[in-house]
Amino acid sequence: MLRLEIENIIKSHGLSVTKSRKKVLKYFLKLNKPLDLKTIRSLVNPIDRVTLFRILSCFEKKGIIHSIRLENGQHLYAICKETCRDGQHSHQHIHFTCESCDDVSCLSIDNFPNLSLTNYKFNNININVSGVCQACIF
Ligand SMILES: [Zn+2]
Ligand SMILES: [Zn+2]
Ligand SMILES: [Zn+2]
Repeated sequence: MLRLEIENIIKSHGLSVTKSRKKVLKYFLKLNKPLDLKTIRSLVNPIDRVTLFRILSCFEKKGIIHSIRLENGQHLYAICKETCRDGQHSHQHIHFTCESCDDVSCLSIDNFPNLSLTNYKFNNININVSGVCQACIF
């Protein structure tokens, strides 16, 4: 089932299905949480660095995954849950870092702010929030 789902995602974003692309996407779906480059690399081993980087930037451009840049310089990638399309990411979620376990997650929130300003077109709103996650709160 997952295999079909993976192929469908790749195809529906206008990409051809390759073994490496399937492998990379598989881990994003399986783990369902933001992953840093180091983790992705060890998971998709033996895909080499250049190929992996090409796949990630291609996925990002096509709206399959998005980048998360945290204030501490950490760079993660996460699967896009909303209907992101070719070059257009539209996210209604925040990036949450737990101060206790360092876990990072994409969280959908109610009342996502609707920001606007005359004569400007906002494409991306990135909100980074830190606090205590549900696993650490008690
Ligand atoms: Zn996206
Ligand atoms: Zn936590
Ligand atoms: Zn996210």
